[in-house]
Amino acid sequence: MTNERGERDVGISEDAWRRRLTEEQFRVTRKAGTERPFTGAYVDTETPGVYRCVCCDAELFRSETKFHSGSGWPSFTSPANRAAVTTREDESHGMRRTEVLCARCGAHLGHVFPDGPAPTGLRYCLNSVALALDPDDPEPGDGPEPDAP
Ligand SMILES: [Zn+2]
Repeated sequence: MTNERGERDVGISEDAWRRRLTEEQFRVTRKAGTERPFTGAYVDTETPGVYRCVCCDAELFRSETKFHSGSGWPSFTSPANRAAVTTREDESHGMRRTEVLCARCGAHLGHVFPDGPAPTGLRYCLNSVALALDPDDPEPGDGPEPDAP
């Protein structure tokens, strides 16, 4: 299951990522950090839509596969498509885990564990800060979106 391709170079230097991202986004996605549980923006989100990579905008996960894991991080049973993410073994912090990365830009997203619900039995445990939710178009009749800042 392990893909050893590692991080893909999309021609953006570490300094450029640092300028482009917030401090927390940079720490998580480029330095394999982890946000504190129950603090992320998408832990309980049920809004229909696409979760994109906060770094490169690639479509990574869809709301249809999101579930409430109780872990404190947004959790999914599968990526939006097979090519969206790559995985590799991660033995940091004295644990053996499988790291999940954006296939396009190599952003660290989180880890995948074999204790998820059907149909895949997988739990993609992700950092909210690595994701940007792109909501589906609202149903007709919902009226225009307010101009929120
Ligand atoms: Zn990406």
